[in-house]
Amino acid sequence: MATNRTFTMIKPDATAAGNIGAITKMIEEAGFRIVAMRLTHLSRERAGQFYEVHKERGFYADLCAYMSSGTIVPMILEKENAVADFRKLIGATNPEQAEAGTIRKMFAKSIEANAVHGSDSDENAAIEGAFFFAGIQQY
Ligand code: ADP
Ligand code: MG
Repeated sequence: MATNRTFTMIKPDATAAGNIGAITKMIEEAGFRIVAMRLTHLSRERAGQFYEVHKERGFYADLCAYMSSGTIVPMILEKENAVADFRKLIGATNPEQAEAGTIRKMFAKSIEANAVHGSDSDENAAIEGAFFFAGIQQY
């Protein structure tokens, strides 16, 4: 059975722009239940660990600098078909290609500063959730 959970974080561009509330509202209105949530920062080293799978990509160093530049809001979300439905709600990586009404279309600044993360599989959702919430009670 699918886990019915996914992992997201609101990224530094969106927290700096004051969009934590607006994005969280869209997530809840789309039927996701927030199971765990924090307001935190990543060091450059921790950002590097989180995005390790991208370490050979040209944008990796910039991405780690950006992701450690400000406040982030990691969350674990629950809903039927959570991973796929959440990817649909956030839209394409590049906001210029994101569909109207998606979170990235509405709030992202660029392909890098794209407002939110969304896990790409049940397996990664579990790994990424544990990265921020290991040992923390989830409701
Ligand atoms: P997604 O977040 O949509 O799953 P990826 O996993 O491919 O996208 O990339 C992880 C993150 O790296 C993106 O959300 C974005 O912040 C950044 N990124 C991806 N592609 C680029 C790019 N070509 N230039 C700069 N940053 C990028
Ligand atoms: Mg990805």
